[in-house]
Formats: sequence, structure tokens, C-alpha cells
Amino acid sequence: MRGLKSFVKRALVKTGSLELAARFRVPRAAILMYHSVRADPKLGADWIGPGITHSTRVFAHQMELVGRRFSPVTLDHILLFLIAQKQLPRRAVAITFDDGYLDNLEEAATVLNRLGIPAAFYLTTGLIGQADAPWFCRVRHAFMKTKRNEWPSSGHQRNWELVAPASRDAALSAAYDLCSRLTKKDQQQAVYAIELELGVEPVLPESRLMMNWDEIRTLRRSGHIVGSHTLTHPNTAHVSQEDALRAEIFESKRQLESYLREPVVHFSYPHPALRPQWNAKTLAMTREAGYATAVTTNPGPIRAHSNPLLLTRINAGSTEDEFLWNLERTFAET
Ligand SMILES: [Zn+2]
Repeated sequence: MRGLKSFVKRALVKTGSLELAARFRVPRAAILMYHSVRADPKLGADWIGPGITHSTRVFAHQMELVGRRFSPVTLDHILLFLIAQKQLPRRAVAITFDDGYLDNLEEAATVLNRLGIPAAFYLTTGLIGQADAPWFCRVRHAFMKTKRNEWPSSGHQRNWELVAPASRDAALSAAYDLCSRLTKKDQQQAVYAIELELGVEPVLPESRLMMNWDEIRTLRRSGHIVGSHTLTHPNTAHVSQEDALRAEIFESKRQLESYLREPVVHFSYPHPALRPQWNAKTLAMTREAGYATAVTTNPGPIRAHSNPLLLTRINAGSTEDEFLWNLERTFAET
């Protein structure tokens, strides 16, 4: 069944049926979502999971397809389209990266600059230049390294079984849920507690995972957009304290603006765990902070009436078929 489904998808993409269908529809854009791009994704996989990593080879191929078969546009262009000041080219595609991994500069930007494709990079400012890994990478690392058969979680007041792969995945997911409600020191303490409870030394990654300010300026000088991805990467819809939430949304913007000496108007909602990833309060706050656009991880195309502060994004997928299917479907859907 799966084979047949992918055959049909491939046939629809290869024959151009979806492209033909899209030709007669209203203008729309697709925003592609990436995180990490590494020459060898297996290296460092204890920290950054395969679900958010593309190999440089696959990423380069995907960008070549974007350059050949679609029209690359910037987030600024999409904003102008949404406020009816600029038209979109046919099959407009914007590229985005979340978190601020060093490989974004070393691997992804090298490909993008060679092909002349612009992108937006959303940075978690509390992680900029840090030797330490983001909290969700540390939690993943602890679960990858633990020798224990059980996680006695003080946060949940219960033990999680770790032997069967499905139970271990459920425990990891519960750990993400626990930390994604927290910010700053509370979040750090929760991560330390998890490492302690799993019997894993809190170590630094073998090499720095995140970009520093000089590297971000280099990205910016190449013409890419820099946006905010909060201070400490919580799920903002689940941060209960108002002042902590304000700091995540306002302070990250202020830091970027002060280091880059220019306005920063693009925001990306972190989505490490839990649903939803935004609510009426976070929406009002992104507006109040002065962001002009905000992207989510919800799927779907950008249309003229899309809310600029709740923009949908497309999963890039890992194979060529999946990548083209996800994009073509975006332009073909009614
Ligand atoms: Zn993120």
C-alpha cells in the first residue's frame, strides 16, 4: 500500500499534473522549514536528532530543485505580499532555519550562497556562542547515553521504563514536555535533574553546536534574514508566568537588534513539545513586540489572507519524492 501510494505521488509529480493544476490557482507561497544541515548527520546524532537534520548532500539537491523548479523568495517579500504591496512570482518558496546551529553557516549557507538562494535564520539568543548545547539536545543526549533501565522522574513523581524502545521514546517525549514549559534557570535545573536521574554526566558537546555573533553577522552580510526564536526555546504557549513570556519574546528581539544594529521583525515560535505552540496571548505579544511575521510548524500554504503572525511552513522531507510532493501539494491544494 505504501509502495502504491508513493508510486502515485511520484507519477503526479513527474507528469507535472500537480503543477498544471496549480497554474490556475490563486497566488501562494511555501515556506520550507529546516534545522540542522550536516556533512555526516550520524556525527553528533546523540545531540541533534535525525528528525531535524539533513545531510549536506540532500540539502544541496533540494536547493537545486528549488532554484530550477520554483521561485526562491525572501520572508520580506512574503511580508510585502501579505500586506498587498508586492506580487509573488509563480511557485514562490522561502527557506527558513530554526535554532541557530553552527552548521547553518558552515554547510547550509555555503550551498545557499553558491546557488544565490536567500534564507531566514531564527536564533535562540540565549544560546548564541555558547559551548553548551540547547536544553532539548542535552535531554536527548542524556537519554541516548543512559545505562539505566528506569528514569525516576522527580518532575513527574513516577518511574519511566527505558528498556523497550517505545517506552524509552515515551519517556523522552515526557522529558521534553516537562522542560518545554520552563525558561532560563528553571529550565536548566530541570535538565540537570534529568541528567542526574539518568546517571549521565552533564558534559559539553565535542565541538560547539551553535553560532556566535560574528558568525551571525557573516550570515547577515551574505544577505540572509536573521530573526528571533526566543531567548531559551520554551513552547511560549505553555509558559505560565507573564514576565518570563515577555522576556522570551521581547528580550530576544532587543538583543538581536542591539548586536546587529538594525530592526529585527521576523519571529519563529519554538515547538520543542506540547500543543498548541501559540495562543491568543502569544499572538498579541508578538504583535506588541513589533514583529511583522511569525512562523509556526503547522503545515500549509501561504495565501493572500494568511495571518502574517501565524505563518504555516512545509516539512522539507528527506527524499526527493517526499520533498517535491510536499511542495507540489502546497501549490495544488484548493
Ligand atoms: Zn527550535
